[in-house]
Amino acid sequence: MMEKKILLVEDEQTLAKALKFSLEKEGFQVVVAYDGEEALNFFANEEADLVVLDLMLPKIDGFEVCRAIRRQFDIPIIMLTARDEDIDKILGLELGADDYITKPFNTRELLARIKAILRRAVPQTELGKKTIRIGSMKIDLIKHRVTVKDRDIMLTSREYALLSFLASNPGKVFSREQLLEQVWGYGYGGDARTVDVHIRHLREKIEENPAEPDFILTVWGTGYKFREG
Ligand code: CA
Repeated sequence: MMEKKILLVEDEQTLAKALKFSLEKEGFQVVVAYDGEEALNFFANEEADLVVLDLMLPKIDGFEVCRAIRRQFDIPIIMLTARDEDIDKILGLELGADDYITKPFNTRELLARIKAILRRAVPQTELGKKTIRIGSMKIDLIKHRVTVKDRDIMLTSREYALLSFLASNPGKVFSREQLLEQVWGYGYGGDARTVDVHIRHLREKIEENPAEPDFILTVWGTGYKFREG
């Protein structure tokens, strides 16, 4: 599994360092930003899998940072709040944080929240993007809506996960084992036929002629890939 990158935005240096240490011990890669400006600068050049964002920050506060990130990316955000903040506002549509935790908190608790959010997050490659358009297909990564030639395609959640994962990596070949790991989350050898069955169902739904697929291509002896462009 690839190391997940967390952006930690926290102006209290002692707390920031302690959290960085604990998160790194759990196998995360951690970048610390000590104020809101640094946090936004980070996103000019890099991406993260999750943001832990303190609300009370110098220069640009957590509310503003959260809004700015949300305008561009679909990344899970956990807010650190110091007092009785308006939780409805934090988790509401305006800000759209995924979760919050009130200071002082237990590091174990924060870790548990981070892991839970990353588990239910969409495949990593989707993060940061809102739509994928390839040929006549459009995938809305926020609404989990797929259309081909403006026609709505009804998919099961697993079909959707598989399609959006492949489409997020156009031209890249994945073995069945890799797809089982990435899309199903199996850390061991699952049944490769599971993948084939899902691909077949997907093709029946998205392809004009499932026998001569245009979107999901078979790479003989290797696996599958999504077409490029
Ligand atoms: Ca603070």
